[in-house]
Amino acid sequence: MPGLALYENETMAAHCSFHIGGPVRAMAVPQDVSSLTRISYLLKKQELAPFILGNGTNILFPDEGLKDLFIISTGKLTNMFLLPDGAIYAEAGISLSKLSSFAQQNGLTGLEFASGIPGSVGGGLVMNAGAYGGELRDAVESVVIYFLPEQALYELTNEQCAFSYRKSLFQTMPGCVILSAVFRLEKGEPEAIAEKMRDFNQRRREKQPLDLPSAGSAFKRPEGGYAAALIDGAGLKGCTVGGAQVSEKHAGFVVNIGGATSHDVYELMMRVRRTVYEHSKVVLEPEMILLPPDYKLEDHGPQVPLHSVWGAGPEEKS
Ligand SMILES: Cc1cc2nc3c(=O)[nH]c(=O)nc-3n(C[C@H](O)[C@H](O)[C@H](O)COP(=O)(O)OP(=O)(O)OC[C@H]3O[C@@H](n4cnc5c(N)ncnc54)[C@H](O)[C@@H]3O)c2cc1C
Repeated sequence: MPGLALYENETMAAHCSFHIGGPVRAMAVPQDVSSLTRISYLLKKQELAPFILGNGTNILFPDEGLKDLFIISTGKLTNMFLLPDGAIYAEAGISLSKLSSFAQQNGLTGLEFASGIPGSVGGGLVMNAGAYGGELRDAVESVVIYFLPEQALYELTNEQCAFSYRKSLFQTMPGCVILSAVFRLEKGEPEAIAEKMRDFNQRRREKQPLDLPSAGSAFKRPEGGYAAALIDGAGLKGCTVGGAQVSEKHAGFVVNIGGATSHDVYELMMRVRRTVYEHSKVVLEPEMILLPPDYKLEDHGPQVPLHSVWGAGPEEKS
């Protein structure tokens, strides 16, 4: 099919920042929106619901692979330009760092926080990505989605996206592919914007284990506290299962120190969750999306974050 690359039995370790994960049935990488809609149409005819992948920086794929899973990557949807009214149009595959730099180059402030987040616009909107007091919901005006069950395009306003801390409508809307978004920002002084971006990136380099594969923060910030502080307080910094480790640099990150399996990561995260609960009676919820080996599109939906696969919290189990 023109405008579409198709890979069979693709190993997902090569497509995610954790460098973990076995093969999936197939991965389609459309080069533009029309190729995406054509492959979606063909999949729908075969009653196959695809899983949508952005930059793979917030996902843990199982080592066993997912032999029935069909993935559509939005990584090649990379148009971005300034609209006549000064807003930014960006497609789903644009990296958040590129979006942030583009805003800076055009003297627009409000996306500095995003410059060091390794995700894409699509994945960033699904997760309402944020850092240093900013979140994408503060900057996005509207989002265009392709809704697979109806094979139809919709434009959603910011309010309709129902953003909250690391949440959005898209997490509860199976079959929705984010195609593009419009970001409306304030005018700012380019050098001051660049300085803020440098400062944020410097802080990241100092505090985060950027030299090791990970999926970013392993757990969400619990109400009234910080996951990293609770994990550190429970004496878990450096705790290791196989090749997975609670980062010695930043306790909020689980890193792959070499050859980690998805089972190592699960076991470590469960241990962290249990120990933190015993220590401080706080139940940590994962921030990354965990696809278990028995993941089934028909049971779980194509892109709903599967925090539910963890079942009951540690307090209910003990
Ligand atoms: C070193 C490091 C640092 C990080 N720092 C931060 C941080 O400061 N703040 C923060 O919020 N996050 C951070 N993250 C996590 C991650 O970068 C963000 O969650 C990011 O928004 C995920 O984007 P992605 O494109 O990689 O999405 P993916 O991981 O590919 O996917 C995430 C979810 O979005 C869905 N999805 C992706 N693209 C689309 C689309 N086009 N349409 C519909 N659904 C889609 C997927 O199905 C999945 O459910 C960090 C990660 C790493 C590795």
